[in-house]
Amino acid sequence: MSRRREISWILVLVVGLAGGIGRVAAQTAAPAAKATLPTVVVLATGGTIAGAAESDVQAGYKSGQVGVEQLLAAVPQAKKLATLRGEQVANIGSQDMNDEVWLKLARRVSALAAMPDVDGVVITHGTDTIEETAYFLNLVVKTRKPIVLTAAMRPSTALSADGPLNFFNAVAVAANKEAAGRGVLVVVNDWIHGASSLTKTSTTAVQTFLSPVWGLIGTVAYGEAEFYRGPVGRNTQDTEFPIESITSLPRVDIIMAHENMDGALIEAAVAAGAKGLVIAGVGNGNMTQAALDVLAAQAKKGIVCVRSSRVATGRVGRSVEVDDDKYGFVASLGLNPQKSRVLLRLALNRTKDVKQIQRMFDEY
Ligand code: ASP
Repeated sequence: MSRRREISWILVLVVGLAGGIGRVAAQTAAPAAKATLPTVVVLATGGTIAGAAESDVQAGYKSGQVGVEQLLAAVPQAKKLATLRGEQVANIGSQDMNDEVWLKLARRVSALAAMPDVDGVVITHGTDTIEETAYFLNLVVKTRKPIVLTAAMRPSTALSADGPLNFFNAVAVAANKEAAGRGVLVVVNDWIHGASSLTKTSTTAVQTFLSPVWGLIGTVAYGEAEFYRGPVGRNTQDTEFPIESITSLPRVDIIMAHENMDGALIEAAVAAGAKGLVIAGVGNGNMTQAALDVLAAQAKKGIVCVRSSRVATGRVGRSVEVDDDKYGFVASLGLNPQKSRVLLRLALNRTKDVKQIQRMFDEY
């Protein structure tokens, strides 16, 4: 055999042997580990998603009748998306949401988000105040993990109840790595909203939630999510209001402006203990001169006054028709009155300085 042939035989032998060994190795290797599902913890607080009526076509019903275990059992399909654990934080209509539940909920979400074996959190909630709770959590829970609120307009017993699919979609988003770092999200009716942008726009329609100024974060159809944008403003991961630093929240009242407004309610709110006021102004945060004068007098005394708007969409700009510098007011910019109130309460826990608080309205 020539030297060349000898070498090629040796090569064939080596390659053959290596292939054989490879095949044997492949046959004897342990079967690939079964992909583990992400873990999502469900915190239930009540609302219509847990509501029940006496019949499936009845407008009257009671919020917060169904417990978290029943909620989970009603959507067994969600178990294919994530390993689920449920906890009952409260069982109330969200019109009764209060500071005690907020602080308990925020502390629990924060603790769960810090656990290495928890990938996301879903919170079931009533639709009435979901935008406030979502925005509050967005400001106080320091995490990049997905925190997703969901709700329903129709009680669990209704014909075409919207809760089960909303819940399924919320679990899908909470289990989705792409949802991380986008702030607190609200998933309702196939849409993924950011906490600072969404607002309830219809008292009864299933398509009640819109994000009119900033648009949607994404959409989700039968668990398939698509994300279009990140959060607007500082939130969760880079908040300066971590829940661990909060023991209570000061009183802040919202007063709606209207034709012939005087300053009586402004004074009454301060007399009742308000440390801050949000005016749901007409148009670009406007009010009568009489109300402006009373508000300015309160601002001089150290009550922090924010001008927002009763108009459903649009910004309230600083010093557009009202000279905020002269009066010592804060402009709400993109926040509606109910979210301005949430931010002002957190801000007042840290400072009474109007410039600092305007900076916070700029940033969050
Ligand atoms: N009143 C109910 C609630 O906010 C409405 C709802 O959930 O749709 O709890």
